Amino acid sequence: MTSDKSKTGSLLIKGGNLIDPAAKIDAVMDLLLRDGHVAEVALPNKIRGGVDANFDARGLVVAPGFIDLHVHLREPGQSYKETIATGTAAAAAGGFTSVCCMPNTSPVVDSQEWVAWIQQPQRGAVVNVFPVAAATQASKGAVLTDFRGLQRAGAVAVSDDGKPILNETIMRETLRLAAEINLPVIQHAEDTRLTENCSMNESTTSFRLGLRGMTTAAEATVVDRDVQLAQQFTGARLHVAHLSTADALKAVRRGKRGKARVTCEITPHHFTLTDADIGEYNTYCKMNPPLRSAGDREALLVALADGTVDAIATDHAPHATHEKIIEFEKALFGIIGLETALGLAITRLHREHKIPLARIVELLTAGPARVVDLRGRGTLARGSYADVTIFDPKRRWTYEAAKSRSKSRNTPFDGWQLTGKVVATIVGGKIAHRAG
Ligand SMILES: [Zn+2]
Repeated sequence: MTSDKSKTGSLLIKGGNLIDPAAKIDAVMDLLLRDGHVAEVALPNKIRGGVDANFDARGLVVAPGFIDLHVHLREPGQSYKETIATGTAAAAAGGFTSVCCMPNTSPVVDSQEWVAWIQQPQRGAVVNVFPVAAATQASKGAVLTDFRGLQRAGAVAVSDDGKPILNETIMRETLRLAAEINLPVIQHAEDTRLTENCSMNESTTSFRLGLRGMTTAAEATVVDRDVQLAQQFTGARLHVAHLSTADALKAVRRGKRGKARVTCEITPHHFTLTDADIGEYNTYCKMNPPLRSAGDREALLVALADGTVDAIATDHAPHATHEKIIEFEKALFGIIGLETALGLAITRLHREHKIPLARIVELLTAGPARVVDLRGRGTLARGSYADVTIFDPKRRWTYEAAKSRSKSRNTPFDGWQLTGKVVATIVGGKIAHRAG
């Protein structure tokens, strides 16, 4: 890398509806990017001087680059499912300019060396990658990792995602030590003592299919406990990953009234589908946390609208066909989600549930940027990084999983008609993806 990396020239994005919730802007504006940063935001036709390139954004939304707090890029160790190169290509196609990748790889990312490895240029990332490091060694829940060292190496949070930090003493220490260095702790809230051998939500559908069901309490009790633990330490930051139940939301709301910083994310599949969508053992509807009841989904929709939820995160979880197209109980948990997130958000949240576009943009930009402190991202304020997502909120399109940039195809949304499509994804002033 040369020191000229930031010299990307200039790009003038003209006439788009600029939505930047962090700066409270929702208006037709021109946006000038220069040398990797936002140089100017101005009313139409006010920006003077020569530029290297123009982008006609009339009729389109120009937003800060989307940030996904929860993806599984599968490297190191599971490149047959995904690589950092293919996963970030899928991210760019979905409008994401930054992703936070989870440490449950092989080996687990629990050392400075692996945190640095993920960020090496040879990985071929086409969007910004911010590693989340393991909170405990090998994510075994017993011995804490070196939070300071991991943070120095570039980790933006710690988490044992894929598993919960169940032991109360360990979780208390995690929150206490992370608070000292202002590091968020991301918890996969699942009391695994209650969910052993369960493959879906406990409901009439699990009864009909003869499958063991996870109770909503398995999630809510862990969130409730963690919220209480977090309140014990000034500056503690607890982020609840892929929250899926009404009861867990209640605990988050309590937490937000206290002195700790409690935040949460919700996935597109949890606000779109319910456990009834499993139908006759559709393994593309098997994920963890599982799809929940219509009542839980309703509570998520309310919380997305009212500000309780901080971010939409995909939990993009690629798996090979042989790991998904097998008996329901043996199939692995998880689906890919980077390329369908915006379409599902606009189709379900905006068009059906009348959540304003500006709120959806906030959940994809300023909200997640705040959760992990990505300064200079999640906004288009002057001086910010030139990460921009341009999308057509009205364009109808059909998602074809076979054309995914991801290495994997495990999605329940293949063939779905969606409204709202990414037109261009700009990372550091350079176009990383442009729709054909
Ligand atoms: Zn998880």
